[in-house]
Amino acid sequence: MTRPLRVLVIGAGTGGMCLAHGLRRAGIDVAVHERDRTRTGGLHGYRVGISPNGARALHACLPPELFDTFVATTAAPYEALAMYTEQFRELISLGFDEFPSTGGGAEDREYNVSRMTLRQVLFTGMEDVITFGRRFTHYSRHDDGVTAHFDDGSTDEGDLLVGADGASSRVRRQYLPHATHTETGLVGIGGKTPLSAQTEALLPERVRRGFAMIFDRRGQFGITHVMRMPWTPGGAPAAGIGSSERELLERWRGLRFDNTTDHVSWAVTTSRSIAPADLLDRTGADLTALADELTADWSPCWRALLAGADHGASVALAIRTSDPVPPWTPSTVTLLGDAAHTMTPGRGAGANTALRDARELRDRLVRVRDGASTLLGAVGDYEDVMRRYSAVAVRESLEFMHDNTLARRPVIGPLSVFAQRSGMRLVDRIPAAKRRMARGFQKVRDSELV
Ligand SMILES: Cc1cc2nc3c(=O)[nH]c(=O)nc-3n(C[C@H](O)[C@H](O)[C@H](O)COP(=O)(O)OP(=O)(O)OC[C@H]3O[C@@H](n4cnc5c(N)ncnc54)[C@H](O)[C@@H]3O)c2cc1C
Repeated sequence: MTRPLRVLVIGAGTGGMCLAHGLRRAGIDVAVHERDRTRTGGLHGYRVGISPNGARALHACLPPELFDTFVATTAAPYEALAMYTEQFRELISLGFDEFPSTGGGAEDREYNVSRMTLRQVLFTGMEDVITFGRRFTHYSRHDDGVTAHFDDGSTDEGDLLVGADGASSRVRRQYLPHATHTETGLVGIGGKTPLSAQTEALLPERVRRGFAMIFDRRGQFGITHVMRMPWTPGGAPAAGIGSSERELLERWRGLRFDNTTDHVSWAVTTSRSIAPADLLDRTGADLTALADELTADWSPCWRALLAGADHGASVALAIRTSDPVPPWTPSTVTLLGDAAHTMTPGRGAGANTALRDARELRDRLVRVRDGASTLLGAVGDYEDVMRRYSAVAVRESLEFMHDNTLARRPVIGPLSVFAQRSGMRLVDRIPAAKRRMARGFQKVRDSELV
């Protein structure tokens, strides 16, 4: 290649922005096009767990001070993971010190992150790289590269087009129309409840200190994450945070766009066979009321949590998973993140896999910059490795979160629930079994362990 490489990224989400930072740091020309009109536009969910895979990618791609700002803006770390029955009777509890770890660096840890905050961190310093309000429609390829077309009639030209435009990717629909998704039969309702002294008093102690999973008798699954942000509702650094974090927060202009305050992020996942057919059309208080209805026999603590929810924040989602796609021939178009591989939230691996994709692709494009690889060779190498680890993440995420129809069968259903609960209580009593379980949890979150 005689002229400098130029990369077009469609979508300023988790993976696309991590890649854009990595390329810019490597001196590679990059332009990001995002359909949201503003940096606070769109509903991108509430909370995400950044695993060592994700943290290593952020560490490799972000400028050092921005990585430190990412760390300073994360919510307080969890101390415990606990699993409960729907009556909040404990089945298993694990301290985070029981999870294996591969290194002692800031990039080898788990982080508990507000999505809006992460989005603002990733936009920091990239104002000249991102164009907001540009919805990608299609691309055209030619001898000299690739042209992206947008719905306002504008275009942009580059050598490589990266579809980082999420699960409903238009880039994927054009490039790999045979890459389909399957409905898992599961639907979810998620929301948030402000964290007040009253909310705290509702929750069992371990739930207050970390995250909890709730398994009910009908195969429904609940989750809570307690998010304690490092700033007060007014945006001033909170008491008790370190002085360097305080300094970074005071300097960071991203906080001006971020209104995240302490809250409990909650979700319930149910089967389409139990839920009303219009679940995905419901919104607001009506949707929170449906979550309450579906969990009417759960603990009064859970129901009180839902009663205090911010109704405007309740969202419904259908849970899908990518179908395996045979390898394709590399070209000047590629995909990363959910655009390439959508997975259930079961292992909390979607965003982390998107971040790893960004790092893997960035590393190979640096070789193109240095004349050590052709563009198509680099894209092909990236796609080979990405297909391998993402297939594991998709499969394991589905194994962990599938429609448990067995639990609802007469006779065998109650027996299977009894067996599941007895098995979990047994694991809780055997330290070696608990460590094995923790290792299983970590497998797709920390690929250095595999
Ligand atoms: C309830 C829930 C909980 C989850 N929890 C976790 C978790 O704990 N850990 C984890 O790792 N993952 C989690 N995930 C998955 C995670 O959110 C996704 O895997 C991740 O956001 C994917 O990142 P991405 O960059 O591929 O896409 P996204 O972050 O979705 O970004 C795509 C971007 O493309 C833009 N875009 C879309 N179409 C166009 C277009 N035509 N033109 C221009 N721009 C466009 C969008 O506006 C968006 O900004 C969860 C998902 C859900 C639903």
